[in-house]
Amino acid sequence: MANPLLVFNNKGIYCEQADVYIDAWRPVDKCIVTHGHADHSRWGHKQYITQHNNVPIIKHRLGDIEVSGKDWGETFTINGVTFSLHPAGHIVASSQVRVEYKGEVWVFTGDYKTEDDGIAEPYEPVKCHTFITECTFGLPAFKWVPQAEVFSDINTWWAQNKSEGKTSVLFGYSLGKAQRLLKHLDTSIGKIYTHGAVENMTNVLRENYDFPETTRITREVSKQDIAGHLMVAPPSAHGGTWIRKMVPYVTASASGWMTFRGARRRRAIDRGFVLSDHADWDGLLDSIKATGCEKVITTHGYTDIFSRYLREELGYDARTEKTQYEEENSESSKAESDD
Ligand SMILES: [Zn+2]
Repeated sequence: MANPLLVFNNKGIYCEQADVYIDAWRPVDKCIVTHGHADHSRWGHKQYITQHNNVPIIKHRLGDIEVSGKDWGETFTINGVTFSLHPAGHIVASSQVRVEYKGEVWVFTGDYKTEDDGIAEPYEPVKCHTFITECTFGLPAFKWVPQAEVFSDINTWWAQNKSEGKTSVLFGYSLGKAQRLLKHLDTSIGKIYTHGAVENMTNVLRENYDFPETTRITREVSKQDIAGHLMVAPPSAHGGTWIRKMVPYVTASASGWMTFRGARRRRAIDRGFVLSDHADWDGLLDSIKATGCEKVITTHGYTDIFSRYLREELGYDARTEKTQYEEENSESSKAESDD
């Protein structure tokens, strides 16, 4: 076979024929960006290409960059290579990248999840020969329950806290998880307050998506104002002094890592809700099957275990490639950008 269509080099995932990178982790000339999380949309590229609705998100994060927005499924050809973006269902405007050259098709998933969360454009299976997949939660232990059940539990928790005169503090990453929470919280229970990082990002997204009304926490908001209501904050804000205003309060985290009992304890969180923006074990396997691919490349997460399972149990030509996405995805990571 000729050179592979996509290779993994020290800057990112590279298509030599088109001289284009995907989700590069070092500055490059031209980069297709799958979604707005920091480990996939890095600073310093000369030219960005991404899905339309991701343009305001990465501009908010990266400032005045040169970026062109594409529609779902819109094809663009560079030196004979045809690219298109397809929904990944991970967060709003998150894409898979389809790459075709001389009849050969590769797909890079970026981060993805298969459950329709009611905000992100739902995951679309794309036929290909080679499928490059994340596997953040690529262990059989990860099995999500339908989000309707999770949100029923979250709203019950909130109502219970309110009846005890306590404020609820719910942690979720400011891009993606926070808006998913906002969208499904039961506002008949009380008001939703937000940490500044969540409020700013949500306001960027309001341009293209609907969310309930939120109130930014400021000095003017008193303890009496917020009592019994709910506050959405990023995990990185845990431990800040703002939380004293909430006393008495109860904390919870919504994350796939809450599958592990120790994760909640280590983070000093009162309650864990298992809610992830990544595919679970079955979601990964179903997605791979739906592509009809022969080759699978696993990029970040439980890559070695997962690719061995694909090879030995399912007969795929599967291997792992090193990327720099995983650092911010691992459970031990302080950055905790994305779960
Ligand atoms: Zn992500």
